[in-house]
Amino acid sequence: MAAIRASGLMGLLVPRAYGGMGLGLRELVDAAEILGGGCVSTAFMWAMHCQQVDAIARFGGAELRGDVLPAVARGEVYIASVTSQKGSGDLFSVAEAMVDLGDMVSFTRFAPVVTGGAYADGYLITLRRSESAPNGDVRLVYAHRRQVDFAVRGEWNALGMRGTRSAGAEIRGSVAHHQIIETAGGMRRVAMESLIPTSHLAWAACWLGTARTALAETTAKLRRQGAAATGQEATLLRIARARLTLELASSYVRTVCDYAADARSHGIPDGRLPDLQIHLNNVKVAAAEASYEVINQLIHAAGVATGYLQNSDIPLERHLRDLRAAGLNQPDDRLMSANGHLAFLDRRVLRPGMAG
Ligand SMILES: Cc1cc2nc3c(=O)[nH]c(=O)nc-3n(C[C@H](O)[C@H](O)[C@H](O)COP(=O)(O)OP(=O)(O)OC[C@H]3O[C@@H](n4cnc5c(N)ncnc54)[C@H](O)[C@@H]3O)c2cc1C
Repeated sequence: MAAIRASGLMGLLVPRAYGGMGLGLRELVDAAEILGGGCVSTAFMWAMHCQQVDAIARFGGAELRGDVLPAVARGEVYIASVTSQKGSGDLFSVAEAMVDLGDMVSFTRFAPVVTGGAYADGYLITLRRSESAPNGDVRLVYAHRRQVDFAVRGEWNALGMRGTRSAGAEIRGSVAHHQIIETAGGMRRVAMESLIPTSHLAWAACWLGTARTALAETTAKLRRQGAAATGQEATLLRIARARLTLELASSYVRTVCDYAADARSHGIPDGRLPDLQIHLNNVKVAAAEASYEVINQLIHAAGVATGYLQNSDIPLERHLRDLRAAGLNQPDDRLMSANGHLAFLDRRVLRPGMAG
């Protein structure tokens, strides 16, 4: 993360006017894939940060943007995401509410999973609009680290993704009104135009980047061992299957990325919302399944010494543990259940970007 801060990449989605790189979804996906090929925990933390930055850049008021974005671009501010809550990861419903103190609002928020929370310089938090508002009246609120008491709750003693230190947290604090993201269309618009495309596409690219590097490293090792000429038929088939799985998912990510980038630039016509949402959910689920499956195939192809031992020169067992989290993070079941409902609204079953 220190290297990423120094590189300028923290500000990849920060507009140039605020000192950032001013890049978009396509470059986000490219960078996530490369970072995922190095370390998926690091790549994931960075991708989550970019998601928060995008929401502030697109939907924050002028004062909030001016306050936060230049520091993000300089690599001084890493923003963590606080959306999960006990028993639910639903973006659109929160029990904990802001309390209006006149010139400030205060809050206490518990979240069971906060990636990099103890190391963050700022937080983007979902909160109920007021104590009298229904749970579905949700706002995103930005809090600087200095404005909150952040207490880690529980341990991150996880199967994988250990480098993300995604422990639970209790966050108490107060912020000014301009730190609340208020926009026409509300949380659903912020989610559809910013949080969902950036997170699903960047996570997908991180996971597939890990799988791609692992495939390259494993085939290189098998090649050195002579498998290309003398390999068992089963090994060849597993490598071929891994490549097929990887390319199908990667191509879909690229296609949906182009579609979402166009939709963000030109606005999303109402009639296209269901199919865009289906594709963005599919991308996340397809990449989670494909990346895990690629590593699983590679473990078979490489055998015990390279595939299964913790001290192997190719960390396939770590990749398998890390990528097992992909389907749990925004649970695939929840996204597929949503897609089942959306499928009945999308009468034309359009390909990404297909004229409708
Ligand atoms: C590595 C990692 C990092 C994360 N980082 C963050 C972070 O930085 N900030 C943050 O706020 N959260 C974070 N999360 C939390 C995440 O996004 C989910 O909200 C959270 O994991 C859901 O919690 P849960 O597994 O207890 O699922 P629950 O919501 O309790 O669901 C349990 C299971 O029930 C099923 N299920 C739940 N809802 C539905 C539904 N509607 N339809 C069908 N099936 C359903 C699914 O099978 C699901 O796996 C992270 C999670 C992981 C794994």
